Amino acid sequence: MSLSCPFCQSINIMIVEASTQQSSTTLASLVTPTTLGALGSTVAKTFNLPPIVGGIAGTVLGSVLNSFTEQSIPSQQNLCFCHNCYQKFPTHLLH
Ligand SMILES: [Zn+2]
Repeated sequence: MSLSCPFCQSINIMIVEASTQQSSTTLASLVTPTTLGALGSTVAKTFNLPPIVGGIAGTVLGSVLNSFTEQSIPSQQNLCFCHNCYQKFPTHLLH
């Protein structure tokens, strides 16, 4: 692929690291074992289940949320920045 801007065709572009860490970090910080444990016991109380069931439910929920988090990471890409037109665009637009 030739490194040229898809907007103005300038070759004066730079690949910049996308600041993708923030969203996943925020989500990961929300999904803590403590949060999930509390959530699990709340669910257990709601459905009148033994606390161990709530703990398992919390763990399962946590792994589901973690899989979502892991899946969202590959979709986030590096960005290119054009010094000519000041556009930012994903690297897959480069052909
Ligand atoms: Zn440009």
